[in-house]
Amino acid sequence: MSNKNRMKPGLMVVLLAIVASLVSVGMYLFREYTEDDYAGRPPVLASSEEETIQEVEEVEVSAEDDPRFKDTESILVIVNKKHPLAADYEPSDLVQVSVASNGVQMMRKEAADALAEMFNAASQEGITLVAGSCYRSYATQVDTYNYWASLYGQAEAERVSARAGYSEHQTGLAIDISDSSGATYLSQAFSNTAEGQWLYAHAHEYGFVLRYIEGKEDITGYMYEPWHFRYLGKEMAKEVHGQNGLTLEEYFGIDGGEYE
Ligand SMILES: [Zn+2]
Repeated sequence: MSNKNRMKPGLMVVLLAIVASLVSVGMYLFREYTEDDYAGRPPVLASSEEETIQEVEEVEVSAEDDPRFKDTESILVIVNKKHPLAADYEPSDLVQVSVASNGVQMMRKEAADALAEMFNAASQEGITLVAGSCYRSYATQVDTYNYWASLYGQAEAERVSARAGYSEHQTGLAIDISDSSGATYLSQAFSNTAEGQWLYAHAHEYGFVLRYIEGKEDITGYMYEPWHFRYLGKEMAKEVHGQNGLTLEEYFGIDGGEYE
């Protein structure tokens, strides 16, 4: 045997070792990929696969078409810069709120009742809340938007106020809450008051959530508004509150952000 021939078995061993390593790494990676891809999903028999997919398509309703969010009578109706209300929409069950307020304020009956319960509970703990702006009609919103635009210009008005038809206040389910003195009304400073702190800890127990949360301006379309609360009903408010900083747009899977 020449030297050349004697080296061949050695080379073969090295090559085999490399191939074996590659194969085992490949099998490992493939196994990981497979487990990840199917994690949590029940195995589907090939024969029933088509049937299963059709079933899912039938029951799945896009959040954009879900009547719970579209129907203006619904307590969960979503209004934002992508989802306006008609100019002539006015809730049919508006009542005057029965709590301390800045002038006469109206909300839908269910929200007004929950508001009274919440303000009373706060008062038991020495916290005095005042209802600022609640329901605003389309016409009022025209004035509100124009007021902010005249003060700060249109660009800034877009951040703090809605164009008429796009305000959640037109639903009769939204409220701007003030401290008792009014010193921090519609101000970021409200977030540091005892009134604000009480609301962030308890509002969901009465069916209200903070609507325009910090750091989600591109999703809600509005700057952080530590004073603006939205009535959702107790059950849903607790669920949304428990999501740790999810906006309604994110939680329900609905388009938000800027105007189209
Ligand atoms: Zn508001």
